Amino acid sequence: MGLAAQMLPGVGAFAQSGERKVGYCVIGLGRIADHFMRGVKEGSTSTITGLVSGHRDKAERIAAQYGVPKSSIYSYEDMDKMRENKAIDAVYVALPNSMHAEYTIRSAKAGKHVLCEKPMCTSVSDAEAMIAACKAANVKLMIAYRLHYEPTTLRAIKLIQDGAVGQVQSIVSANGFNESAGEWRLNKALSGGGPLMDVGIYCLNAMRYLTREEPVKFAGFVSTIDKDGRFDTVEENTSWTMQFPSGIQASCTTTYGGSMPGFYRVYGSKGWLQVDEFGYQGLRLTARYSQGRGSPATTLDEPNLEKDPKQFVREADHFTECILKDRAPRTAGEEGLLDMQYMREIYRVAGVTAL
Ligand code: NDP
Repeated sequence: MGLAAQMLPGVGAFAQSGERKVGYCVIGLGRIADHFMRGVKEGSTSTITGLVSGHRDKAERIAAQYGVPKSSIYSYEDMDKMRENKAIDAVYVALPNSMHAEYTIRSAKAGKHVLCEKPMCTSVSDAEAMIAACKAANVKLMIAYRLHYEPTTLRAIKLIQDGAVGQVQSIVSANGFNESAGEWRLNKALSGGGPLMDVGIYCLNAMRYLTREEPVKFAGFVSTIDKDGRFDTVEENTSWTMQFPSGIQASCTTTYGGSMPGFYRVYGSKGWLQVDEFGYQGLRLTARYSQGRGSPATTLDEPNLEKDPKQFVREADHFTECILKDRAPRTAGEEGLLDMQYMREIYRVAGVTAL
């Protein structure tokens, strides 16, 4: 057993007997936290054992739902006390982006493993500090890139790796939505940036897991069309192109100004493959490729019928397994840091102050 696992009270016992689940304290009880908690409840490896919230009433209501004792509800001010709470092995940071770094670092100092939502944080230097803090405390850090654990995504990656569409030449991708006034996502102090940080990051990350390459050249643009007060601190639209070492090119776009259902389409020498939806359910893979002139074409249409919160079950299972078996998460802090560096580059070439 590795050192981190040895430091976990009772985890060894669970690993051997299966009696003890890994306990998560959820920090920030908003929308994504609800999906995650339902996922944990549906799974069998993890359990909710603590809550951190600025709203005690809400926290008590949720605590009752998940069997969390009132003594394991913390405020943002006193959450460091969770150090003494042996039922909490890990935290799930589900706060606005600019708070991720502080709460990851405080949790690490309290001796807890950290599963942190995307984007990892709002600056490259914060991402580096989060990784350093988790290393210093000997706890694991995973960024909640849930699609890395999702079957349609894994199938698309495998088809491309197996050469189904031939040599990939180009990928296009989009993801966006019409954001409402008053949301923290429109406040740069909390979000760190516009739709790129929030939903464009799915396109960026997909280009990397589909090509298995790291981008080396960037071009990008930002614009704000609607002067209705929503975009006083963050941009409304971002579009960017990236080139990878092999020469593969990717064109991506994201918006907070209109409905833009998520998708990517991969064009290769033998055909194309598309995945629709970056959401919690309803992903669909379609493809059409052939092995050469005169060969019959293969056509795929594979809807993923899994329902929310399956993706969250897989995400929690993966981190729990990493904790129990002392393994590195597939989407460790270093994966989040790379996206932070690329988003900084996209903003830089688009003329926006770097992250
Ligand atoms: P919400 O606004 O729904 O929830 C955020 C929670 O953070 C609030 O409910 C609140 O919890 C707490 N909070 C503390 N301070 C503030 C503040 N100043 N303003 C607003 N909330 C505050 O956000 P989401 O759940 O949609 O997003 C949270 C994080 O999860 C973001 O980083 C986002 O990018 C990420 N996310 C990831 C998704 C994914 O699929 N992986 C999808 C959606 C979001 P309380 O009242 O308990 O204090």
